[in-house]
Amino acid sequence: MKIPFNKPWFAGNEIQHIVNAAYSGHISGNGAFTKKCHALFEEKYGLLKCFLTTSCTDAFEMAAMLIDLKPEDEVIMPSFTFVSTANPFILRGAVIRFADSSNNHPNIDVDGIEALITDKTRVLVVVHYAGVAVDMEKVMALSAKYGLFVIEDVAHAIDATYKAKALGSFGHFGAFSFHETKNISTGEGGMLAINDPQFIKRAEIVWEKGTNRAAFFRGEVDKYNWVDVGSSFLPSDIIAGVLYGQMQQIETIQAKRVEIWNRYHAQLKPLADKGLIYLPEIPDFATNNGHMFYLLLKDEEQRNALMDYLNNNNVHAVFHYLPLHKSQFFQGRHDGRQLPNAIRFSETLLRLPFFYELPIGFVDLICSKVYAYFNIKF
Ligand SMILES: *Cc1c(COP(=O)(O)O)cnc(C)c1O
Repeated sequence: MKIPFNKPWFAGNEIQHIVNAAYSGHISGNGAFTKKCHALFEEKYGLLKCFLTTSCTDAFEMAAMLIDLKPEDEVIMPSFTFVSTANPFILRGAVIRFADSSNNHPNIDVDGIEALITDKTRVLVVVHYAGVAVDMEKVMALSAKYGLFVIEDVAHAIDATYKAKALGSFGHFGAFSFHETKNISTGEGGMLAINDPQFIKRAEIVWEKGTNRAAFFRGEVDKYNWVDVGSSFLPSDIIAGVLYGQMQQIETIQAKRVEIWNRYHAQLKPLADKGLIYLPEIPDFATNNGHMFYLLLKDEEQRNALMDYLNNNNVHAVFHYLPLHKSQFFQGRHDGRQLPNAIRFSETLLRLPFFYELPIGFVDLICSKVYAYFNIKF
C-alpha cells in the first residue's frame, strides 16, 4: 500500500449535521448551521464579521468586489502561492505585482514590499504559507503608511497566530479555505472574514447576489431588490453542517496534526544537522498549526530524485507551487524582475504525507525512507 499524501477525515458529527440540515427544511445558504459557524469563528478567532463562501477563491472574489477594484489598480502578492490568490484580481482587470519570498521562508519578503508600492497600489495580499505567520506588524504599518487594503490568505493558516492573535484577524479581510487539502475541510468551501466595519453592510449584499435579501428578511425594507453587484457566494447549509462538525473537533484535530509535525521534525533533525536537508523554522512571533510538513533539498535535481525515490517506495511525496510570475498565463505580463527565492522554493521544496489519521508509526517509516535515500542508518 502506498501512503497517500492527504486523506480527508470526518470528526464524527458531520453526518448527523448533514441529516439535520436535510430535514430542517432549509438546505440553501445562510441557514442554522451557517449562522452557528459565523458566530463560532467570530468569537473563537476575534474576527469582526464572517461570511461562509463556496471556496477561498470566492472569498477573494468577494473581497475584490468590496474593495471596488478598478482596472489598472495594482495588487502586490507573493509569486509563490496558489492561482486562487491572483485570479480574482485578474478578473477585475487589476495589475498584479508579484513579490519574492524571504530568504529563509516561502512567505513574502516583507522588507521587499515597499519598493513595489506605486501610487496605483491599492491592495496587499499576504499568504501565511504552511500556516506560519507573515510579520503582520510590518504589513499593517505599510498598509497604514500607504493606505493599502490588506487581505490575508489564511487557506493554510486556520488556528495559527501572530503574537498570540489569530491569523485572519489582522488584515481588512481574511480568506479561509475548507478544501479537502486543508486542516478543516468540507470538501470544497471557504469563508471571508471582514475586520473593517466599513465593508460589512455592503458585504451582506454582495454575498446575496447583489440583493438586499438580508435586510428584507430582517424586515428593514419592504421589497427585496437588486441594489448592487454581487454573486452566488453562499454554500448550502449542508456544507455548513459539515464545517460545524469539523470545528467542534478542532482542538483534537490540531493537537494530532501538531504531534505529527513534531514527530517528522524530531526524526529528520539529525539529517538537517548534517547539512543534508533543511527544515522549516518557525519565527518566535508565529505558531505551528500543523498544516503541512516540508523539507528543502540542496537543488531541484536532488529534490526530484528524493521525490521519485519516495514515490517508488510507497510514499506519496509532492512538490508545491510553480511561481505564478513564471506561469504560462502570467509570464508575458510580468515586469521582468527576478524573484530568485520563489524559484528556489519551487525547485527544492518537498512535502511529505500529512493528514489526521496518519499513524505516528508511518511517520517513522516515511522518515526511515528519507534516511535510506541518503544511505544513513535510521
Ligand atoms: C487552497 C488554497 C487556496 C484556494 O482555496 P479554495 O478553497 O480551493 O478556493 C488559496 N490560497 C492558498 C494559499 C491555498 O493553499
